[in-house]
Amino acid sequence: MSIPNNLANIQSNIPDEVTLVAVSKTKPIEDITSAYAAGQRVFGENKVQEMTQKWEMLPKDIEWHMIGHVQRNKVKYMAPYVSLIHGVDSFRLLKEIDKQGKKYNRVIPCLLQIHIAEESTKFGLDERELWDVVASDEFGALQNIAIHGLMGMATFTHDETQIRKEFKSLKTTFDALKTKLPNISVLSMGMSGDYQIAMEEGSTMVRIGSSIFGTRNY
Ligand SMILES: *Cc1c(COP(=O)(O)O)cnc(C)c1O
Repeated sequence: MSIPNNLANIQSNIPDEVTLVAVSKTKPIEDITSAYAAGQRVFGENKVQEMTQKWEMLPKDIEWHMIGHVQRNKVKYMAPYVSLIHGVDSFRLLKEIDKQGKKYNRVIPCLLQIHIAEESTKFGLDERELWDVVASDEFGALQNIAIHGLMGMATFTHDETQIRKEFKSLKTTFDALKTKLPNISVLSMGMSGDYQIAMEEGSTMVRIGSSIFGTRNY
């Protein structure tokens, strides 16, 4: 299957109100260009340096989403152009994004990443950390970040019941957070293997890589 065919196929499974992030990490410029020619404008990367190189080389109407774990010392490289940072998993990182946003005179859209999987290797805030962050006075004072919603990754398993349970819990957290931050609208959950379940559980943004670009060679 070709990239345009794969894209069309996925798009036909996704309602208009769900945003497709085409995850192009490790993939060459030509693959992104092929998806771009087919109309795709939102791309996800998990390494700041790789994303920045691609941003420099490609059309400027692409929206670049940082979906990976972010080190604070790398924020400055993407601060001028990044459209959405999905993996904000600490207050210290959020403060650094705010600081860099200020430097570039922009408000940087962010998602808070919540730990929902059983694997401890996955990143994210737990429930208590989330509420501690959003309740703090310091959080209220940040002017150069905007929290648009939440992101989470389910356990890597074939157990659909487990995956569904984890997405449900993220949706519950999202709804609860909405009472405190009424403007949030993005719930980023679902990848190639589980995006159908994620959408059934309320996802508004899916991050799909291998089903569009093929398997990755690291
Ligand atoms: C790589 C990655 C994806 C895409 O995974 P696929 O299984 O290839 O669709 C989605 N989200 C995150 C955070 C990723 O790192």
